[in-house]
Amino acid sequence: MCEKVIAVAFDDGKPFSIVTVSGKRGFSFYDVDYCKRDKTLYYHLSGFGSAPYGIEIEGCGEYWLADGYRLGRYTKRQKRPRLETLDAKWQCWPFEWGIKSDTVYCKICKDRLPTSETETPCQHIHWSVRKSWWAGRGVCD
Ligand SMILES: [Zn+2]
Repeated sequence: MCEKVIAVAFDDGKPFSIVTVSGKRGFSFYDVDYCKRDKTLYYHLSGFGSAPYGIEIEGCGEYWLADGYRLGRYTKRQKRPRLETLDAKWQCWPFEWGIKSDTVYCKICKDRLPTSETETPCQHIHWSVRKSWWAGRGVCD
């Protein structure tokens, strides 16, 4: 499957959310988190579907949008700086700049840490089978 990057929103110079389009699935929305400990960008698919009212992109920094697409009303209202060009690095698919993984925020590490089924993110967070969610001192209430 071939996906094409059509929108990227940045936060502090790093991608924060990305929208791609592919023939089969329509638009795909990716969340991107930077892990300070690993010095790595982690991304995961957060949703997909159509965007009849325009592309909404999350984050609060600058953004880039490919020609031929328009912003959704919510993003337009935020009056964020728009980039004229996008570094080729961020346009490639698959995303070679990062690792596919969800993350969890640890309030003690003050970092977003990758999650996996075999490892705990850090010493402050563990998976609770009872809650079916993360638990521990590092988890935000
Ligand atoms: Zn921690």
